[in-house]
Amino acid sequence: MTYETVIGLEVHVELGTKSKIFCSCDTSFGAPPNSHVCPVCMGSPGVLPVLNEEALRLGMKAALALNCQVRTDSKFDRKNYFYPDSPKAYQISQYDEPIGEQGYVEIEVNGEKKRIGITRVHLEEDAGKLNHSPFGDGSFVDFNRVGIPLIEIVSEPDLRTPEEARLYLEQIKAIMQYCEVSECKMEEGSLRCDANISLRPYGQEAFGTKAEIKNMNSFRNVERGLEFEQQRQEKALTRGEVIVQETRRFDEATGSTISMRGKEDAHDYRYFPDPDLPRIIVSDAFLTACQEEIPELPAAKRERFMQAYGLPAYDAGVLTTSRFLAEFFDATAQQVSDPKAASNWLMGDVLAYMNASGESIEAIRVTPTQFADLIGLIEDGTISTKIAKTVLKTMLDSGKAPKQIIEEQGLVQISDVDALTAIAKAVIERNPAAVQDVLEGKEKAIGSLVGQMMKETKGKANPAVVNQLLKDLILS
Ligand SMILES: [Zn+2]
Repeated sequence: MTYETVIGLEVHVELGTKSKIFCSCDTSFGAPPNSHVCPVCMGSPGVLPVLNEEALRLGMKAALALNCQVRTDSKFDRKNYFYPDSPKAYQISQYDEPIGEQGYVEIEVNGEKKRIGITRVHLEEDAGKLNHSPFGDGSFVDFNRVGIPLIEIVSEPDLRTPEEARLYLEQIKAIMQYCEVSECKMEEGSLRCDANISLRPYGQEAFGTKAEIKNMNSFRNVERGLEFEQQRQEKALTRGEVIVQETRRFDEATGSTISMRGKEDAHDYRYFPDPDLPRIIVSDAFLTACQEEIPELPAAKRERFMQAYGLPAYDAGVLTTSRFLAEFFDATAQQVSDPKAASNWLMGDVLAYMNASGESIEAIRVTPTQFADLIGLIEDGTISTKIAKTVLKTMLDSGKAPKQIIEEQGLVQISDVDALTAIAKAVIERNPAAVQDVLEGKEKAIGSLVGQMMKETKGKANPAVVNQLLKDLILS
């Protein structure tokens, strides 16, 4: 490829407030259409918006967590446009004085850290949602979403591949969730992403003409949409065509992007300060309180898991994707002698169980202490790895402690040589050919005898003890 791809993302995050940004309407998702509306969010004449302090607090936390320089004196502006999803014909947003600027997040690409700049973070209100009739006879507008608080996070054009864009978006989501700014559910629209993408010949400093891609409603689709657009622009440039600045819509069914309209410039919106809202002045105490509410963030946690528990980068990355999962592991790791074993069980059997049951990790019925007890019982040889899988499954089903399950089901591993000798002798008796192989030094033959012992004891025999016992009996 002779072209370099340049990508910047505009991410909208719904803030997890109970009420809307300028009125007291409910923000919960899934209510009957147009049931969460009032004269303020519908823009009736004579009403006055009042800023929800909680929205400002969450927005500030987000800006701080994204390493932004925050503005303690900022203002709201009106972004003017006509579209049926906006009853006021303008959106209250921030233009030249956003709450945060010049931030960054770090992503890890092929084992290397890369810093992605954040141009700005600003507060704004959401617009309504258009639902198009499946019969093609019109569209319906639901104003419940009008006035839900949002932050828009605009990145620098620092992303170079569709994969980097997905990694960046995943990082933003994790940070917002850790800070409890938003639940970031892409399927409910509480995290949305538009992308600007352009190509330029390698070595050229000036950017090429960009297209804006909308409607990519999952992490996978962000990557797919950008991959398609990258190829489309490359083909066009190779043919000597001129790229048009435009907005394109991602079509999930075909995996392609379709031209929607020419792209607006900022001056088309005639931004001006909202005369109904006073300036936003943030006190030092408010800012300090926001700062203190930011927990250890995913990147720092990942680093600590590698240092403190000796985890590989991959494990540390997976375990820190969710704050709950990370805290669950952290609490377990402090109670076991082998944190890597805890990581293996957690990333393997536990996550597979939660995935299969369609539940998120937050719904787990096992406590970190119970989980640590299980790891301990494997380590001290009370149960075999095989039995541990059964015990863990029962723990996840029932929330019972591992010791209780082992007692109830009689699953304690048999390590007692006396108890195993009679069974071993019977197995030897029945398998003269395998015994002969062992006598001739064929080490592998012992495996089939161990296997039969495990079967006889329903998996409860300690394989290491059985192995030694069989050798002793045959070779003595
Ligand atoms: Zn309202």
